[in-house]
Amino acid sequence: MSEKNKQIQPSAIPELASVLVTRQQIAERVAQLAQELAEFYQGREVTIVQVLTGALIFVADLVRQMPLPLRIESVSVSSYRGTNTRPCQARFRLPPPEDLSGRDVLIVDDIYDSGQTMAVLIDAINQTRPASLRQCVLLQKDRPDLPARPGVDFVGFDIPDEFVVGYGLDYDGLYRNLPDIGVLNKELHEVQP
Ligand code: 5GP
Ligand code: MG
Repeated sequence: MSEKNKQIQPSAIPELASVLVTRQQIAERVAQLAQELAEFYQGREVTIVQVLTGALIFVADLVRQMPLPLRIESVSVSSYRGTNTRPCQARFRLPPPEDLSGRDVLIVDDIYDSGQTMAVLIDAINQTRPASLRQCVLLQKDRPDLPARPGVDFVGFDIPDEFVVGYGLDYDGLYRNLPDIGVLNKELHEVQP
């Protein structure tokens, strides 16, 4: 196979028009991130606040490679409605626990897009007075159309401004179970802007 063909792998998954991050790339990067986080939190106990439902698979893979005393809490924020692929106003479906005071808290989400979800979470968790608060996302979307975002502390992959599914990320509730991350095959759905 030529070098060129190696790079443009057609997706083996019919639901995806193209693959942006393969399962192998995810596995390698998640292992690296787990190591970075284990070093960062060495000697401390960490409380992960996972953002349901998209971060579920990422968190499951990440925490099993973090040899630390670790707790997992969950929040749920709705920033999409049905088939919209641009975020709407972020709202809690499940708010953060109230007893995070004095804890080293790490928010883990699937993707950082406009940054609105993260801003709402940081604000709510800071009110519970954690000892420290950091953020980790698997994907960070390139959004040159937006004014500078605050950013997050730990990022798996920077990706272009495309609506992606797979490895926890959904479209209208579906496709979270795909092992690769890619752009949805538009023949399956008319994706709304
Ligand atoms: P933000 O508030 O940063 O704009 O959006 C973050 C949330 O929107 C993420 O937690 C995720 O649920 C959702 N999101 C943003 N971009 C995408 C995307 O490309 N695909 C999917 N499936 N969800 C996304
Ligand atoms: Mg989300």
